[in-house]
Amino acid sequence: MKVSEILAGSTKPYPSIEIVPPLRGITKDELLESIAPFMEFSPKYINVTSHRDEFEYRQAADGSFSRHLVRNRINETTVCAAIMSRYDVETVPHIICAGTTGEEIESKLDNLAFLGINNIVALRGDSISGEKRFSPSPGGYRYASELVEGIRSYQGSTSYRRSRGLDTDERFFCIGVGAYPEKHFEAPNIETDIVNLKKKIDAGADYIITQMFFDNSKYYTFVEKCRTAGINVPIIPGLKPLSTVRQITTLPEAFSLDIPLELTKAMQSATDNKEAAYRTGMEWCIMQCKDLIAHGVPAVHFYTMGKSDNIVNILKECF
Ligand code: FAD
Repeated sequence: MKVSEILAGSTKPYPSIEIVPPLRGITKDELLESIAPFMEFSPKYINVTSHRDEFEYRQAADGSFSRHLVRNRINETTVCAAIMSRYDVETVPHIICAGTTGEEIESKLDNLAFLGINNIVALRGDSISGEKRFSPSPGGYRYASELVEGIRSYQGSTSYRRSRGLDTDERFFCIGVGAYPEKHFEAPNIETDIVNLKKKIDAGADYIITQMFFDNSKYYTFVEKCRTAGINVPIIPGLKPLSTVRQITTLPEAFSLDIPLELTKAMQSATDNKEAAYRTGMEWCIMQCKDLIAHGVPAVHFYTMGKSDNIVNILKECF
């Protein structure tokens, strides 16, 4: 089932779970066991993130350097297939423009369609380490809006439609896109960022998932601005519980977001107590989640980032 249909047919908010593909060396069973705790809540779908290939330079004995591809993680399509082989759940792979050509993306779409996966989250991805600004691969997409257009035009091609037996107007893929209540770090201001977000919706995206935030008022203001700008699709809030004191520094750096003073102080007061810090982050997230649900959000998206205990407790408290 498509996420757009789930959203349209849902009578109460539901949790959506995002996992990161395991590092190479982890077995399929280990992966499936790690997500088993979430399955107790019968999630409607599981998102699986995508990670661009990195390169490293190795020096030979003669002093020359050669470039080598480094793939640290199992790819998202394989992880989706593994999840569906064990659990009766939809999967939503993320597809990124970064480090890929349009043709490679078409091939990914073929693989997803083959597996019967008709949900995608379309994202740009980030620059490779050492690169200051994002630059697309030759023949690749510059922005997520171009990727959304690419997916829509690919499935509009005659041969594709014939192979899937699709009617003229039917869309095979339901597409989600990302958005930033505190603005994307490259955007000059939130208004411009929202204009660019609308390009993704106009290109054919069906719904939005936000970057994590720790102050719900930022999300509510953002949704209002989007509605004023003519963005009318569902906007699913994204949450992540803090789990260590260190994250009050690393998350703002990595994701260009604010941690409220009250939460910062509460985490700092737990500096010498890992358990207290973990509990503080979790309780803050429960408070955020309950408030979002009370405000009638369609769903709450959880960035699990390899942790399950805290998310499971939050799901128990809130859903
Ligand atoms: P875009 O929508 O392309 O926007 C990027 C920047 O370009 C913004 O500043 C925007 O304002 C600007 N822009 C957009 N269109 C135009 C235009 N036409 N002209 C000028 N400027 C424009 N990353 C991963 O690598 N893998 C993942 O699985 C992943 N999952 C994510 C899931 C969610 C829900 C979110 C919110 C983010 C995720 N990310 C992921 C991170 C994401 O790839 C980065 O935040 C990236 O920097 C931006 O991606 P985007 O799709 O929002 O880009």
